[in-house]
Amino acid sequence: MEFYLFGIIILFFGGYLIIQYFKGIIIKKEIITEPSLQIERLKICDECIHVRLKETLYKRCTECGCFLRPKTKLFHQKCPIGKWDNLEKP
Ligand code: SF4
Repeated sequence: MEFYLFGIIILFFGGYLIIQYFKGIIIKKEIITEPSLQIERLKICDECIHVRLKETLYKRCTECGCFLRPKTKLFHQKCPIGKWDNLEKP
């Protein structure tokens, strides 16, 4: 009986930690950018000489090798040559 009680306590504690983790991501936006910032980053990339496959969904940076749609969506990503540095972060 004590074994089950211990398991339930661990389950609730783990669930609490998981909820707090996702709350941090969603509320503080520590991982995903605001859509407006992503659009600004993509506009800069569209003008850049290092972008490949510009007209497709799979546009890619030749400097870092990243696919630009997911890269621009991630808050802590940076342009390898600093072209995003002047953008205001929300
Ligand atoms: S991430 Fe930087 S270097 Fe790469 S395409 Fe965009 S602006 Fe150009």
